[in-house]
Amino acid sequence: MTVVKLQSRPKTGDVIALPQGKKIRVRDVGIPYVLPPAAVCDDPLCPWHGHLKVRLKLLEVTVEKVRMHKAAVVTHEWVQYISKYNRYERRRRRMRVRVPECIEVKPGDKVIIAETRPLSKTIAWVVVGRKEDVTEWKAKHETLQ
Ligand SMILES: [Zn+2]
Repeated sequence: MTVVKLQSRPKTGDVIALPQGKKIRVRDVGIPYVLPPAAVCDDPLCPWHGHLKVRLKLLEVTVEKVRMHKAAVVTHEWVQYISKYNRYERRRRRMRVRVPECIEVKPGDKVIIAETRPLSKTIAWVVVGRKEDVTEWKAKHETLQ
């Protein structure tokens, strides 16, 4: 598995050659406000450089632990309205997600994950970008904090 860091962020559709001569095309994942990472990989299960399709269900989560085999444990926190009490309550859940090789994450990072097909018994979400790679997130996914 190879990862090549780039000087600048590529555009979707760009073709980048890896050192072994393999050519990687930056795919359009279908989310216009998430920008591709400034690295390329030859991971087949990467939404940008492989053939993993993502569904348009996105969440902003915090990385809790980074696991072996390109996985991480993330925490999703959201606010749920309880009509009986006319108030909001905070909810949280832990999820296991896949981390493609071109996206580096460490505990405490804010990342955007997208739903995908089940990749293993507990993994059905993939990291599509770090919070900095996203434009217009607030307008599209405004939540009560
Ligand atoms: Zn990749």
